[in-house]
Amino acid sequence: MTERKTLDELEVNELAMEFEDKEAQDVIKWALDEFHPRIYIAWSGQAEDMVILDIAHKINPEVRAFALDTGRMHNETYELIEKVREKYGTKIEIFFPNQREVEEMVNEYGVNLMYRDVAYRHLCCEIRKVRPLIRALSKIDGWFTGMRREQWASRQNIRKIEIDHDHGQIVKINPLADWSHEDVWNYIRENDVPYNELYDKGFTSIGCAPCTRPVKPGEDPRAGRWWWEVNAPKECGIHCSIETGGFEKIMDSILQRAEARRD
Ligand code: SF4
Repeated sequence: MTERKTLDELEVNELAMEFEDKEAQDVIKWALDEFHPRIYIAWSGQAEDMVILDIAHKINPEVRAFALDTGRMHNETYELIEKVREKYGTKIEIFFPNQREVEEMVNEYGVNLMYRDVAYRHLCCEIRKVRPLIRALSKIDGWFTGMRREQWASRQNIRKIEIDHDHGQIVKINPLADWSHEDVWNYIRENDVPYNELYDKGFTSIGCAPCTRPVKPGEDPRAGRWWWEVNAPKECGIHCSIETGGFEKIMDSILQRAEARRD
């Protein structure tokens, strides 16, 4: 079994300071030199993911990316996965949720349980995204995310290089942490990077089909995510654990029933 390469808190603090004023290209090159092939780009069809993929591919064409196919993605996102294959030759590695867990959840609470209340939405995100993510990250040493500080309050303090305490102390790289929305789109236009057609339809953040809608002029770019929820964080639990106390018991019961099934 390959031993995981991890960095300690002190090393990561020093690296975060060293790379804070460096370009995204420098951060990505450092991470690929250090961790490839045991590092993934987390790809969900966002413009930021495509920027990272494009930069990384220019540095190392063998760069790896993964996507969590929740089963509820927009068709435009699937189309972009195919465009990535054609343009870069990169096969985005797909991770699906556990089939029995999804069946137990939707048969009990309905396919659109996310609209019931925040706890059920978190339950769906946990089964369809968070648990597959744990599986995806379990055999690697680092991952790139497209998070930017200006996206949402919960992202204001992210650093370009961090330790991911939720996933085995691996390294989490946020090379676009200090980029603006304009920086992302300037890069896409100047480098002819393919992007998700949903952006041309008024979407400003890409998520699952039932949980993302276009935003109106002047609205916050993440306002289209889980738009029916009031005073809930616009996060799914992938980048920060969500403490609700609301869904854990229901989830335990779903997991037990899924485990007990024999099919
Ligand atoms: S974003 Fe919506 S559909 Fe996707 S996993 Fe979360 S609740 Fe389920």
